[in-house]
Amino acid sequence: MSYFATQLVHGIPVNDNNTGAVNPPIYNSSTFAFESVESMPHWDYARSGNPTREFLERQVAQLEHGVRGFAFASGLAAIHAALSIFKPGERIVVGDNIYGGTYSQVNEFFRRWGLQFTVVNTQDLDAVREALAQPDAKALYFETLTNPLLKVNDVEALSRLAHEAGAISIVDNTFVSPYLQNPLDLGADIVLHSATKYLAGHSDVIAGVAVTGREDLANRLYYAQNRLGGVLPPQESDAVRRGIQTLALRIDRQQDNAQKIAEHLQSHPGVTAVHYPGLASDPGHELASRELHGFGGVLSFEVDESLIDPVVVLNAFRLFRLAVSLGAVESLAELPSRMTHFELPRAERLKVGITDGLIRLSIGIEDVRDLIADLDRALAAGAAGRGEDVAGELEGLPAKLGVPIVGDAEPVRVPVAG
Ligand SMILES: *Cc1c(COP(=O)(O)O)cnc(C)c1O
Repeated sequence: MSYFATQLVHGIPVNDNNTGAVNPPIYNSSTFAFESVESMPHWDYARSGNPTREFLERQVAQLEHGVRGFAFASGLAAIHAALSIFKPGERIVVGDNIYGGTYSQVNEFFRRWGLQFTVVNTQDLDAVREALAQPDAKALYFETLTNPLLKVNDVEALSRLAHEAGAISIVDNTFVSPYLQNPLDLGADIVLHSATKYLAGHSDVIAGVAVTGREDLANRLYYAQNRLGGVLPPQESDAVRRGIQTLALRIDRQQDNAQKIAEHLQSHPGVTAVHYPGLASDPGHELASRELHGFGGVLSFEVDESLIDPVVVLNAFRLFRLAVSLGAVESLAELPSRMTHFELPRAERLKVGITDGLIRLSIGIEDVRDLIADLDRALAAGAAGRGEDVAGELEGLPAKLGVPIVGDAEPVRVPVAG
């Protein structure tokens, strides 16, 4: 039995080539020859299985302490597969702060197919227990950390409540990765990842994985993967495999940077709140210290809008890229109210705490001194922009007030230093 960092580098060899290549080959083959009509080959057709994908699937099962893993063409394809195992009439209790794409898949797609959903605040265990007591509740679905406010969900307590109600517990572990938490060890039955984020880690691939510790659920997930067909191609499987090799190194640096940035922001006069479980003052700090092996690389903070214009701040970054997504080597910044969560009506957003002045950062592996300098400069630009015409004060950068910020499809381009 090897340790986690070793498993990241080596995985579980498939031992299917005799060239001595230190990396598993990328098998660009959609079909595999039978030795004879009577043979039952392990690989016959690449939707059903491909050795490159299988390497990744065995590795994520190992990293998440499950029995089987499945790789999909996106995080949402993995989520779709996991939710497709339920039948019309069955009820799934979902957290009220889940990823927007999941929320619309649930509401606009699965509801039409007859699944019932109850939306609940997963921070409130009594409310969860009550929701799970409704007829036909078969699953509780939530995320380890909520987005963008980084509230910590208690995987152990929530999974126990699900089991007491005869339901399974499904956890989207994207924000922390198996390096910081293994939900299956805390009682979850299925763990999901958008591998696009920390697992791949370089903003160069869209991928998803599902892992379970139960053979019966594994069979249902495999059916969904093979028959709905949203499989991860071999090239992308290899990109995720390569990303995984440096997962621990990347997250060590990312959360070290995030901690320093969170502490720095706390002392900024224009910042009214910093949401990061690594801060001792954070309401989730105690739980995160218990259930996680670190606090992750994503944080959010709120600016005092009478002092600082958040739109000007976002447009003034030079090192932080103005982009949705997270978990990669480069630092990203976004304004949830106008970008990731813009589809939520303003009143709904404010109800869950997503104010107009809330800024989310995904911290990369750069030198933290450069990141802090970029933040300070952008915050100063935002302060200068409050109520005045600031063009000219930003060292040549246009204030960009009035530049429309739209959804994920059309990110606004900002000039980047160097
Ligand atoms: C990005 C993300 C998803 C969706 O994954 P894709 O790879 O974009 O399909 C699901 N859950 C969380 C928490 C995410 O951040």
